[in-house]
Amino acid sequence: MHDVIVIGGSYAGMAAALQLARARRKVLVIDAGHRRNRFASHSHGFLGQDGVDPARIWADARAQLDVYPTLHWVEGNANAISGRKGQFEVLTTRNEEFSGQRVLLATGVSDQLPDIAGLHERWGVSVFHCPYCHGFELDQGHIGVIASAPMSMHQAQLLPEWGKVTFLTNNVLTLDAAQRSDLGRRGVTIEETQIMQVTGNADVELRDGRCLSFAGLFIATRTTPASPLAEAAGCTLTESPMGTQIMTSESKETSIPGIFACGDVARAPHSVSLAVGDGAWAGAQLHRSLVWADG
Ligand code: FAD
Ligand code: MG
Repeated sequence: MHDVIVIGGSYAGMAAALQLARARRKVLVIDAGHRRNRFASHSHGFLGQDGVDPARIWADARAQLDVYPTLHWVEGNANAISGRKGQFEVLTTRNEEFSGQRVLLATGVSDQLPDIAGLHERWGVSVFHCPYCHGFELDQGHIGVIASAPMSMHQAQLLPEWGKVTFLTNNVLTLDAAQRSDLGRRGVTIEETQIMQVTGNADVELRDGRCLSFAGLFIATRTTPASPLAEAAGCTLTESPMGTQIMTSESKETSIPGIFACGDVARAPHSVSLAVGDGAWAGAQLHRSLVWADG
């Protein structure tokens, strides 16, 4: 019987596991190894690790966790949670079953990219969602913002802080007069011709034959939980401006007693720093819930 089963062993899950292992609690981490930023070769904005390969940040953290004798790690995919607070069972796709008093979901989110040819293969390379993570490296160059959601308007207004912005509405958004004048005040060029495909580094080929070259492209992706586990376990989900996430209390407990959640899947906005902070907090809160257990 583990004290806590952490599902998702990335930044948020590992930060929680670290607190629990340091409190000498029995922690099991089950991780499928698909970090959200696996497409990027550099991670920015995480203090002390700025510009480092995100896989390296993960590997260093993993090596430090391995030192703790009460922490165990299983590579795999958790696909069912049953039981109740004090006695949960977690089943993996390989049919391994693990018991734990508490469960922590740190399963992250998936990004829904618009269906435009050439976007997927450039995701994390020259197509991004977060200007704080990738804006600086574009050297104040030309930036394209591709409309995908109402949040795209906000992104188009913000990005002039990082370069000269063209807002490609791509038949997804229809701008009213107020929005046009607002974008004008921010120095944003509006391009309403539909996009055919993205080629080269970040060259946008339009339906009328023109091609616009950018240093980078930004898209406000819609995010949804990467794993259906929370919903299947009956946890209440909620909407943020970024998409769907798991609802939690201040102490990161979901609507199901004993199941906690942290990281991108349980907060917004999203970054490595915020996931680590959320995970560290969740780890301490889980520990407290074990110390002052009421069931
Ligand atoms: P994740 O890192 O997404 O990890 C979730 C983990 O849970 C994964 O290992 C996954 O396989 C596992 N998992 C999911 N379901 C299951 C299951 N059922 N069973 C077992 N395991 C499961 N942020 C920055 O601060 N700086 C950057 O430069 C930056 N660059 C980014 C670039 C890109 C292209 C993207 C998409 C995001 C970027 N981010 C960046 C955001 C950052 O990746 C996330 O905020 C961060 O990864 C969230 O950490 P997390 O632990 O919550 O989730
Ligand atoms: Mg998470």
